[in-house]
Amino acid sequence: MLQITDLQASVADKPILKGLSLTVNAGEIHAIMGPNGAGKSTLGYVLGGRPGYEVTGGSVTLDGQNGEKIDLLELDPHERAAAGLFLGFQYPVEIPGVSNVQFLREAANAQRKARGQDPLSGGEFLKLAREKAGLLRMDMDMLKRPVNVGFSGGEKKRNEMVQMGILDPKLAILDETDSGLDIDALRICGEGINAIMRRPDKAVLLITHYQRLLDYVKPDFVHVLAGGRIVKSGGPELALQLESEGYEAVAA
Ligand code: ADP
Ligand code: MG
Ligand code: MG
Repeated sequence: MLQITDLQASVADKPILKGLSLTVNAGEIHAIMGPNGAGKSTLGYVLGGRPGYEVTGGSVTLDGQNGEKIDLLELDPHERAAAGLFLGFQYPVEIPGVSNVQFLREAANAQRKARGQDPLSGGEFLKLAREKAGLLRMDMDMLKRPVNVGFSGGEKKRNEMVQMGILDPKLAILDETDSGLDIDALRICGEGINAIMRRPDKAVLLITHYQRLLDYVKPDFVHVLAGGRIVKSGGPELALQLESEGYEAVAA
């Protein structure tokens, strides 16, 4: 589904990704772990198309509807989203003055338009929103409030997952969705990710520092990102080894 080959990228003229290669197939969940400053968020931003993140080499392709290879790096961020990419932020942004419901309905209908589907009516949208909010144990009252404004860290992350459920992406890149979550919110987010994304036609890149989220969302593969490259790959046991021995010992 996703093929990253020798990806190199710079931020403010500073090389951060230095030849990163990764293949993700449909139905797979890949955890990306690594020390602070390794380039994990940079990878997410580069895949999402954030301005200021300059690709200096390599390629990224995403499989299209009919199995054709889409050159992801050629697309604008909204086109990447329409192609089925979702980026869950490490630090979700607050959008004062725009309610969650307005925001999500606009986003969902823009997405549907790009896919050649009819827009959802108000009633259809609310039904969908209620279902996804329920998965994440989010009160509908929260969906009426401005996007993320005054939300706790955990509420912001759950809100990101509600958004993901409504947009129904085929590839989700989740950047430290577990940061700022208490134990209950961690379990709820983990179960939400499984319910929404653990499907044969979807895939997830789960960026995380810690093993704990992986107790709920079992990865098929675990990769260590250090110094802008994948330096080690393995199965779920690699995450446990990292947790007990640390990045330096395992990935040196
Ligand atoms: P991680 O998510 O793995 O902790 P990041 O991708 O956020 O790492 O950052 C990788 C490196 O890029 C760090 O050294 C960070 O300081 C640097 N970096 C990120 N954003 C910028 C920026 N806007 N300007 C300069 N350096 C940046
Ligand atoms: Mg970090
Ligand atoms: Mg980060």
